[in-house]
Amino acid sequence: MTRKILIIEDTPTIARVQKHIATTVGYDVDIAGSLAQAKELISKNNYFCAVVDFILPDAPQGEAVPCTIEAQIPTIVMTGNIDAKTRDIVEKYPIIDYITKENKQAYHYLEKQLQRLPRNENVKVLVVDDSASARLHICSLLKRHKYQILQASDGIEALAVLEQTPDIAVIIADNEMPNMNGDELCGEIRRLYSNDEKAIIGISGSNAVHLSARFLKSGANDYLRKPFNNEEFYCRLSQNVDMLEQIATIRLQANTDYLTKLPNRRYFFEEAEKSLKKMQKKELTPSLAMLDIDHFKAINDTYGHDAGDEVLRGLAISFAKYFTKDLAARLGGEEFAVYFNDTNKDEVLKRLDNFRHFVELNSPEFSKEKIQFTLSIGYAHGPVYQIDQLLKQADIKLYDAKQNGRNCVMS
Ligand code: GH3
Ligand code: MG
Ligand code: MG
Ligand code: MG
Repeated sequence: MTRKILIIEDTPTIARVQKHIATTVGYDVDIAGSLAQAKELISKNNYFCAVVDFILPDAPQGEAVPCTIEAQIPTIVMTGNIDAKTRDIVEKYPIIDYITKENKQAYHYLEKQLQRLPRNENVKVLVVDDSASARLHICSLLKRHKYQILQASDGIEALAVLEQTPDIAVIIADNEMPNMNGDELCGEIRRLYSNDEKAIIGISGSNAVHLSARFLKSGANDYLRKPFNNEEFYCRLSQNVDMLEQIATIRLQANTDYLTKLPNRRYFFEEAEKSLKKMQKKELTPSLAMLDIDHFKAINDTYGHDAGDEVLRGLAISFAKYFTKDLAARLGGEEFAVYFNDTNKDEVLKRLDNFRHFVELNSPEFSKEKIQFTLSIGYAHGPVYQIDQLLKQADIKLYDAKQNGRNCVMS
């Protein structure tokens, strides 16, 4: 879905720069050169957000700001400079942010804000406070920046919400609460979830200086003292969400095979080990397959290494699609593996043989050179709960498949 942004700016060169930034981020852009034009566009369109110049020829006192705010459009204000009077006017409105154009970083910052807004729609924030009015205030700030919001009125309830909604990214917790204090809650959250998964921002109305340190020592990432300034609140929150996002990106890269974009060996081992523990508890029988391209060295020798890479990428696409419900990975070279959530041996063997047959028939579609190739597959099924043991068994079967003339499944 493309999101529409309204840029209200009377200087054409600045409007062009802003348009370029918004387009790069992925927005559909409308430009209004005056307040009158903006009103006209607003009456005919739905905007995801707006970038509003504070001073316009027909709006010299910032009149365009209430116009977008009243139309419920999340608004970023751009000002030439920010003197105390302008700041007072701007801060009265529930805007997303204001940016001074004279600042060198202004356009870089605008780009970041425009990237964050759509992202925030997928970020879940849990607000924990016993005071309903304090919760309401924080929630209204979060809503303005398009975060998904969950609420809890004390620490016990917060832990229950976290258990029900495992993908909550940020917890904003008040310190003074009945049943469980903010820093106690923080310690409990850290016992269950690492800093890489969830950020915690502590909030307190107390003047006790040691309190912020206690919060941080209990595992909070940040601390705000009430009453806090909205700008500071937003800055700390975005920084924490940015950090979680960076960690998630790095983790994804570490778990992904560079050539095929499939999960790599390390991810496969980690995830399979987790699943095996659960299977053992439930006394279910796990199963796993190893798939190896036949005579792959000959493909490299005949068509070149790049063509070999293309074959691997093409195979990986079909492989991932065929085994979406299972854990499919590239173990290395031309060797792949699937760990099955399905414990029905006959079903799984049928699916594996179907895939083998599919590759035999369709492999020429995987590469420009129309290289035809086949797979040998080894399958292990048994009450074995060590991933390396299970892999070893599948590898023995794979060896049997090669001995058996290749292009077959052995179990
Ligand atoms: P078999 O049927 O017995 O499996 O024979 P094979 O030739 O497929 O197996 P072998 O293990 O002898 O050769 C595997 C080759 O895969 C050797 C290696 O150079 C090549 N290879 C490993 N990784 C890559 C890669 O990322 N890209 C390409 N193009 N080739 C790779
Ligand atoms: Mg309280
Ligand atoms: Mg091979
Ligand atoms: Mg091999």
